[in-house]
Amino acid sequence: MDAPAKIDDVVAAKIPDGVYAETVLSVEHYTDRLFRFRMTRPAGFRFRSGEFAMIGLMVGDKPVYRAYSIASPSWDEELEFFSIKVPEGPLTSHLQAIQPGDKVLMRKKPTGTLVLDALTPGKRLYMFSTGTGIAPFASLIRDPDTYEMFEEVILTHTCREVAELKYGFDLMEEIRNHEFLSEIVGDKLKHYPTVTREPYPYQGRITDLMESGKLFTDLGVPPLDPAVDRGMICGSTAMLKDTKAFLEKSGLTEGANSKPAEFVIERAFVG
Ligand SMILES: Cc1cc2nc3c(=O)[nH]c(=O)nc-3n(C[C@H](O)[C@H](O)[C@H](O)COP(=O)(O)OP(=O)(O)OC[C@H]3O[C@@H](n4cnc5c(N)ncnc54)[C@H](O)[C@@H]3O)c2cc1C
Repeated sequence: MDAPAKIDDVVAAKIPDGVYAETVLSVEHYTDRLFRFRMTRPAGFRFRSGEFAMIGLMVGDKPVYRAYSIASPSWDEELEFFSIKVPEGPLTSHLQAIQPGDKVLMRKKPTGTLVLDALTPGKRLYMFSTGTGIAPFASLIRDPDTYEMFEEVILTHTCREVAELKYGFDLMEEIRNHEFLSEIVGDKLKHYPTVTREPYPYQGRITDLMESGKLFTDLGVPPLDPAVDRGMICGSTAMLKDTKAFLEKSGLTEGANSKPAEFVIERAFVG
């Protein structure tokens, strides 16, 4: 009599061709809306820091995929993701329950506009993010190339509540304690966390903080200047629109992979 198929064989048989199935290594929950996880990186999987990939899970017999920024830098042996938990979400209602040892699917081709190649050389790089929009920047701030191209890197992260900022603080600490990154980054990286719905030392939407000039005063830098400043924006559709308008008003022009310029944008989610 044949031995019964092992669970792994059953799962493997359902995984679509041409898709990676990687093993979850760790999961960390921050709030009831946010978590991060790390998984194995397939041999031969290449990406540029800041890009996104389609990741998914088998839900019943069908794979469900969503776009996810790769939060780890391109040199990392593992892949990291920072995720929302949407209660009835087709993917994240399941993804939020993953445990080490589980399999996550990933399509083979990463892509995206939040890459260093899409910017012309400058002196100071601003990364404007809200919520999970910090994910592509989690990759870029851990990539030595970012500090080769820019003298100063400013990461702004705006959330509703203070607890939602924790991933950003953990990243800063990781960099400070990292054997080689700490030396490369030195004091070039500035973190500017702001909150919109709770009292906090830095409060309000990033566009309001730029309009009033408070962001620049707090950081001790001059207002935006297209000769030296570059920008990357990742957040909700409304945040992208307002931040883009402010950068354009300041004289910066939007770029793309095919036409590098002074700033680039990408939606953190559709909706
Ligand atoms: C280019 C790109 C990169 C993305 N990168 C990430 C990432 O790194 N991390 C991540 O968590 N999500 C990211 N997303 C969103 C992601 O693709 C999914 O929408 C999200 O995982 C929820 O999936 P779902 O199937 O559970 O719900 P969906 O049906 O996809 O979404 C349901 C609703 O939840 C809300 N929502 C979805 N995602 C978010 C979010 N991230 N923050 C706040 N509200 C949201 C929206 O209102 C949406 O209409 C990205 C989207 C795009 C387009």
